[in-house]
Order: sequence, then C-alpha cells, then structure tokens
Amino acid sequence: MFRLDGRIALVTGASRGLGWAIAQALSQRGAHVVLAARDPQALAVRVDELAALGGSAEAAAFDVTDAPAGEAAIDAVLARHGRLDVLAANAGIQHRSPIVDFPLEDFRRVIDTNLTAVWTLARQAARAMLPAGRGRILITGSMTGLAARPTVSAYIASKGAVHALTRALAVELGPSGITVNCIAPGYFGTEMNAALVADPAFDAWVVGRTPVGRWGRPHEIGAAAVYLASDEAAFVNGHTLVVDGGFTIAL
Ligand code: NDP
Repeated sequence: MFRLDGRIALVTGASRGLGWAIAQALSQRGAHVVLAARDPQALAVRVDELAALGGSAEAAAFDVTDAPAGEAAIDAVLARHGRLDVLAANAGIQHRSPIVDFPLEDFRRVIDTNLTAVWTLARQAARAMLPAGRGRILITGSMTGLAARPTVSAYIASKGAVHALTRALAVELGPSGITVNCIAPGYFGTEMNAALVADPAFDAWVVGRTPVGRWGRPHEIGAAAVYLASDEAAFVNGHTLVVDGGFTIAL
C-alpha cells in the first residue's frame, strides 16, 4: 500500500520545512519529485540529497506568484515526463502585524502567494491531469483556516480560502478522476515559525495547549501527503486532514 512508483509529483516550497518533508516522503515511496521554490541553489542541494538516498528528483526554480512561470514549469514536466500525477501546492508565507498597521502590499503578497498561486497552479495541473483521467492535488492549508489568532489576518484569510478552494476543486474535478485534498498543519518548528520557536513563552503555550504535548515533526506532514497522493486515498476527496496533535479540538 501507499506506493507511488512511476508517479511524477511537483511540490512547491520543497527547499525546506514542510515542503521538503513532503518531497522526501513522496520520493521514499517511489515518486519522481520535481522540487520547486525560488532559490535554485537550495533546490540543487535537495535534489542531491534525494539522489543520495536513491530517489529520483529534479529542480524547478520559479516564483509561485509568477503565474506564467508556474504554468511553464508544469508544461516542462509534461514535456519531459509525459504526465503529472501529483501537485502538492505547499509554498506559503506569513506576515504578522496588527490589522491597523498592516500594509496593503503585505496583505496582497500573502494572498498572492498562499491563495492565488495555489489556484493558478491547480488550474494548470488540472489541465495536465484531465486528459489522463486521474490526478491528485494536495493543498497545504493550516489550522488557522479553522480557528483564528490575532495579528495574522492575511494569512488566516488565505488559509480559510484554500480550505474552501479545496472543496470547490474537489467537486469540479472529482468526476474526472482528480481528487483535491487539503492538509492543515498545526504548529511545526520550521523557518516560518523560527521567531515563535525561539520565544520560550510561545513554546510553552504550544506544548501545553497541544494534547500530544509537543510541536509537530515535518515528516508527519510527509506521511499525510503520501496517503492523500496514494491510490488508497481514491475515495477521499475535498477533505481537510488536520495534522495538529489535537490542538484545534482541545478546549
Ligand atoms: P518555510 O518558510 O519553512 O518554507 C517555505 C517554502 O516555500 C520554502 O521552500 C520557500 O523557498 C518557498 N516559497 C516561499 N515563497 C515562495 C514563492 N513566492 N515562490 C516559490 N516558493 C516560495 O515554511 P513552512 O515549511 O513552515 O510552510 C509550508 C506551508 O505550510 C505553507 O503554506 C505554510 O503556510 C503551511 N503551514 C505551516 C505551518 C507551520 O507550523 N510551519 C502551520 C500551518 C501551515 P524560497 O524562499 O526559496 O522560495
């Protein structure tokens, strides 16, 4: 079960953090992984790391907010491999500010990256997958798409929207054999959260507030991605899989 041999997967935000964990997990199950992010050097290192582990990978350096670049990257995957089986639209950014001081340009940057780019990449992936009659689109949402905290209004708006986008695309593409699901991580100690991890009070709050008593480990997102990308998840569509140690259901 859960083998992905021969599958071609494109993972955005794959140079570090949760995207790198997704890329590693898909690779370990046999997929050829196209790693995407903006920094080509960081991607080259990750491609080598996967190759050293016996995996098959390549890099596609582009900015997800550049829609034509994203479309060209998917077209290049099709030209090279003849198929795209999995899109993990994972790249995302954060911007923290009280609403009254929140610059509009930062709101737009977060929405462009976390929402609009997910939509444009999913659109191009669907164009690639429809002729094949099968495919998997995985979107990285957030538990902040389900419950809110102060000072991250753009991020929360973007994540709530991709949870809804997951359902929209699931009902539209499901009849064509393409499933669309969302992974909603809780708190993970990635670079995005470096300031939070370094804050002893926040760290204690996360550990104390999470029923399993710790931060998430990135490979735990990789495992969720493998499941949703697999044939075994064929009847799971439009779902948001919360991977948060029980954070969002605890009072
Ligand atoms: P990181 O900051 O560690 O990694 C972000 C990745 O996205 C990097 O590979 C970065 O590479 C890439 N990226 C950022 N902006 C762009 C862009 N414009 N174009 C292409 N690639 C880009 O973040 P995480 O791994 O923590 O987060 C990954 C996803 O998980 C995000 O969607 C985030 O919102 C979500 N998430 C994370 C949680 C956490 O606790 N960490 C909790 C809930 C959700 P580069 O800079 O080279 O482009």
